Amino acid sequence: MTVRTRFPPSPTGMLHIGSARTALFNWLYARKLGGTFILRIEDTDLERSTEDAVQIIFEGMAWLGLDYDEGPYYQTRRFDRYREVIGQMLAAGTAYHCYCSREEIEAMRTTAMARGDKPRYDGRCRQRSGPPPAGIAPVVRFRNPTDGEVVVEDRIHGMVRFANRELDDLIIARSDGSPTYNFTVVVDDMDMAITHVIRGDDHLNNTPRQLNILAALGAPLPVYAHVPMILGPDGKKLSKRHGAVSVMQYRDEGFLPEALLNYLVRMGWAHGDDEIFSIAEMIDKFDIAALNKSAAAVNPDKLLWLNQHYIKTLAPDSVGQRLRRHLADAGVDWSAGPPIAAVVEALRERARTLVEMADACRYFYVEPRAYEDKAARAHLGSDSAPVLADLRERLAAVEPWTREAIHAAVAAVAAQRDLKLGKVAQPLRVALTGGTVSPPIDVTCALIGREGVSGRLDRALVYIRNSLKP
Ligand code: GLU
Repeated sequence: MTVRTRFPPSPTGMLHIGSARTALFNWLYARKLGGTFILRIEDTDLERSTEDAVQIIFEGMAWLGLDYDEGPYYQTRRFDRYREVIGQMLAAGTAYHCYCSREEIEAMRTTAMARGDKPRYDGRCRQRSGPPPAGIAPVVRFRNPTDGEVVVEDRIHGMVRFANRELDDLIIARSDGSPTYNFTVVVDDMDMAITHVIRGDDHLNNTPRQLNILAALGAPLPVYAHVPMILGPDGKKLSKRHGAVSVMQYRDEGFLPEALLNYLVRMGWAHGDDEIFSIAEMIDKFDIAALNKSAAAVNPDKLLWLNQHYIKTLAPDSVGQRLRRHLADAGVDWSAGPPIAAVVEALRERARTLVEMADACRYFYVEPRAYEDKAARAHLGSDSAPVLADLRERLAAVEPWTREAIHAAVAAVAAQRDLKLGKVAQPLRVALTGGTVSPPIDVTCALIGREGVSGRLDRALVYIRNSLKP
């Protein structure tokens, strides 16, 4: 049997990280077993679905690298097919027309509740015979079995039993003919020959209804695995008030997709005590049987830790590619500066996010507009002027412009003036970057370039001269 999994988001807003996680699990399972991963856009809720939200789903999937083999299918383009199946079910008697009015349904509910039962449809149109009442557009209901039970053999929760008498006859088509949610899912899962459904356990209550309809259609039943929700740090369902919940927001905050995927896979799945998984390792090790029963809570520190790990260990070029968007957001023009990959290499030990990195690397591309107050007071005083003047002269003559040669020139100035290296490097650093924190001074100089270094030293000397004027 070829494994066929699906990701069926409803395009009603952002791509939530909980959805991204179920997409990931389905993708991993298909990739692991050489199966097929299908993208299906569940856009039948015309009022809430938007084209923008569809684009956000595509963008998020592409950013995460979750590629699909089939689709995107759109439910709104399959209405003829849903109508066809409804016709077949009506003909087979597994569905029937219901002409009850809203008031009648309301009355049934009140009666049921007065008896202490759950509010439900009492099935009165099941046995209707004779001509249909005039002037009423009926809904179509599924003829749910009335006795026995449906057992969801869930791979995470085990056997979950539902008594059929608790499930009333679901409306599968509204009076305008449009199909309802649980029905379209069933027809799609059947037509797309889905073998494994991994989804949030907020759908567990839909599953017995879907199983009954699948059985009525004679369709093979998929394997189900309902994953627990992702919770906020306070143990409540994750929502916007806990911070970022949308995949794109994580991208915008400077996280790498590798880090987010690694973070998501560990929410609800474990492989021993391992924390770091490359994509290849996830595919290799992922197993539905190892999905957790208990809910996972977000842990922002862990995500930062993972992000830093990937910033440090991925190829600088690949991190650099992703840094560009953040440089652009920060208004940094990198075209005339050092190669981005070299900047990544210089800064990757310090930055936890690409936003931090974009912010920290600004001085490689743009001359600092001002010196930090404290740094200038400590390092750009009168006694720094001769040191900076020496550096200006020696660095201008460095040939070739390499880290080693730059280091030798700075060390020579220190030796000549009998100063510790730091006493020379720190004024130089402030002159070049405006502050006291940067990679090793030879690396910093090498990246800024000879011309940039000379120009910035000239300006620091002017600054010192001016600040000494009475
Ligand atoms: N469209 C549903 C959702 O976004 C998915 C349902 C399913 O996985 O069956 O929650």
